[in-house]
Amino acid sequence: MTPESVPGALGAALSATHGTTIVTSRSAFEVIALAGALEKLGVKNVQSFLARFSITLDKRIYLSFTPGKVDAGPSLIEQCATIAHEHTHVAQAEIVSREVFYIDYLMRPAKRAQYEAEAYRTSMEVLHWAGRPIAHLPDAYARTLASSYMLPGIDVDFARKYLRMAHDDLVRHGVRRTAVGIEACRWLDENAPKGGW
Ligand SMILES: [Zn+2]
Repeated sequence: MTPESVPGALGAALSATHGTTIVTSRSAFEVIALAGALEKLGVKNVQSFLARFSITLDKRIYLSFTPGKVDAGPSLIEQCATIAHEHTHVAQAEIVSREVFYIDYLMRPAKRAQYEAEAYRTSMEVLHWAGRPIAHLPDAYARTLASSYMLPGIDVDFARKYLRMAHDDLVRHGVRRTAVGIEACRWLDENAPKGGW
């Protein structure tokens, strides 16, 4: 397997486990509909949000990049981290039911912070698998949560603290805790070329 084929193949493996469909076309009708929903939620610049962020709705994952194509966008391992991040949301909805997940996510900032903190923890687990430096990520993710996820300071503080603990778990103890992080890293261990990430 070439490094370029890893993000797509990881996505296919996670899709097979979680029953997801990965959508990469930014011109898909659904993305345009999604833009309307984001506007209602209070996202300020919908176009730049959609260009930067991947989004999961139910079992459909809308990626902001094409897996395997780097261009100016995320690196290959960052693509893997995002694909695992989005599948974490699918796994979260599997646990509490789709209805509860979306009510929580859309209406309760504290719950949104919790779901995103876990999903960013999954991202960190994948980046750490590849030997990427992750010390700066808890603060960087907290900044993203503050600026783009409409979260108040208290919930951002929770996420930052949680992600710092996740960082320590990984760096000091080598412990992964998210179900999808464990699943994705196991798949990478078995399928991805070693090193060079
Ligand atoms: Zn997320």
